[in-house]
Amino acid sequence: MGKTIGIDLGTTYSCVAVLENGQAKVIPNKGGYLTTPSVVAFDETGKRLVGHLAKRQMVINARNTVYASKRLIGRRYDSPEVKKAKAMYPYEIIEGPHNDVRIQVSGQEMSLPEVEATILQEMRRVAEEYLGEPVKEAVITVPAYFNDNQRQATKDAGKIAGLEVLRIINEPTAASLAYGYGKKLDQTIVVYDLGGGTFDISVLEISEGVFEVISTAGDTYLGGDDFDDRIIDWLAETFQQQENVNLRKDRMALQRLKDAAEKAKCDLSSVPQTQISLPFIGTSDKGPLHLELILTRDKLEEITADLVDRTIVICEKTLDAAGLGTEEIDEILLVGGQTRMPKVQEKVAKFFKKAPRKGINPDEAVAIGAAIQGHALTSTEEEKKKDGEDLLLLDVTPLSLGIATFGGFFTKIIEKNTPIPTHAGHIFTTAADNQRAVKIIVLQGESERAAENELLGEFMLTGIRAAKRGEPEVEVTFDIDSDGIVGVSAKDLNTGQQQSITVTASSGLTEQEIQWMVDRSKDYEVELKSQGELGKVCSKLESELGKIEKALKEQKAQLPAGLEKETKKFIERARRIIEFGDLEEIKKLITQAPAVGERVKKPSP
Ligand code: AMP
Repeated sequence: MGKTIGIDLGTTYSCVAVLENGQAKVIPNKGGYLTTPSVVAFDETGKRLVGHLAKRQMVINARNTVYASKRLIGRRYDSPEVKKAKAMYPYEIIEGPHNDVRIQVSGQEMSLPEVEATILQEMRRVAEEYLGEPVKEAVITVPAYFNDNQRQATKDAGKIAGLEVLRIINEPTAASLAYGYGKKLDQTIVVYDLGGGTFDISVLEISEGVFEVISTAGDTYLGGDDFDDRIIDWLAETFQQQENVNLRKDRMALQRLKDAAEKAKCDLSSVPQTQISLPFIGTSDKGPLHLELILTRDKLEEITADLVDRTIVICEKTLDAAGLGTEEIDEILLVGGQTRMPKVQEKVAKFFKKAPRKGINPDEAVAIGAAIQGHALTSTEEEKKKDGEDLLLLDVTPLSLGIATFGGFFTKIIEKNTPIPTHAGHIFTTAADNQRAVKIIVLQGESERAAENELLGEFMLTGIRAAKRGEPEVEVTFDIDSDGIVGVSAKDLNTGQQQSITVTASSGLTEQEIQWMVDRSKDYEVELKSQGELGKVCSKLESELGKIEKALKEQKAQLPAGLEKETKKFIERARRIIEFGDLEEIKKLITQAPAVGERVKKPSP
């Protein structure tokens, strides 16, 4: 049987891991990177690019490059989050047939599960290349605070990518497995997970291989991207004040601002200030304009203070829901790249009155946990004995589940933080004599007002026997499975008959659409294989260029000016060709590069 992989499908980066000989291993891609950008692009011929290749060409092809798709998956087109994304992102976001979100790129329309499937396919390919065998099964992680629509859409993405998704698990829970599996711990821990697009916190009790989530909460639209956006706003406003030019109107400039903002933010995690230089970012009647600004860590902390504070408020609520005080927490794990920001660590430490634990890798822990869970789900009794520790994961539902009731209210049927899988029943009756059908609206959320919660679906209970109002009794059962996905069934208690119900997903795809997308993605697999070669040669050329740059630095004092200029030009041209992904040209440059390097090392007098 093939191996089961664990995939952390992130907002900005994705990561894949596998368990081999009892050891979890993050699988590097051909470029040697342990994480792959969650970016999908289309070139002018309509060919799909994914990962580093897609990210590299982002600035010159902003309209056809999709990033942060995880922020849109499973959302309704008319939601405030999608409106915000439409204003921020350079690619085109359009409405799909189910009030869902679609992307319009290079003349093609793509659903969000298809975009995410492209990233999953790439992660699968990375794993297959490493393992040297086909991979069919995966455990995929999602933010703990994802609702049913978002989970369902992620599962659909797995299906479109040709994977059997054995389980969807929550990111903080996965990180706790990476931390505690096999250690025979007895602890209460908190996982604080601030990634590129989402924030989650979970409180867990770990005891001899049982990982039990006590409470969880989060915000699916709060992450590193929001920190970047604050820097973009600051850069664009400062530039407008200085030059009276609005950079936000120019898609390419906006993309360059985004790149520079993220880089500056990451730099500021280790240095107190950083220079942001963007030559030729705009033009005015005076000619080309250049952006040159210094951003300090203090300024970054000032413009993002409310974002960090929002996470602390959620921490407080989650601890409350768990019925625990900060003194009862043994360890705090930090997960997600944004937790590298010193201010985040400082505020978390201040709130919990304890320094967070160092030593788990915030980028890799989630994929490792998913691989551990994948192994546990597929291992034989014999393998389990060998592992020495049985793994039992007990998670909870992050959001309350219920129905809309008369007067626009929300009646909860399953409360948030209920252990899953779970089910609960609710008896419905009729409001009028001889009423033969009842409409049921299923919602998820915490607001008392029905309209303020997430609509999961609507269905009609039909075939109710003719009777006086209030007499028929129909029991509707709501199930939440181990993936956190909701199912509904109904039974007429008087007749014992199963009711026919049709749930119309509010923003999901139909089975037929999924099948069509599965077929379309098969064509794409062929493309991905050739991209594998492109990825390999790009990395090879990058490594050659790195060697030349090193030699340039070492020989700087004795190099004739002409040679230095010529070599820099060679490097610049090579990088442009990598961006365009021209396979043949890159191969040619790989053969030329060693000679260029040699000339720098031994410049002729
Ligand atoms: P993840 O979703 O866990 O891959 O986290 C990605 C987010 O972490 C992105 O917003 C990154 O910009 C951010 N990030 C990565 N490294 C750092 C760093 N050194 N300092 C601050 N943020 C970082």
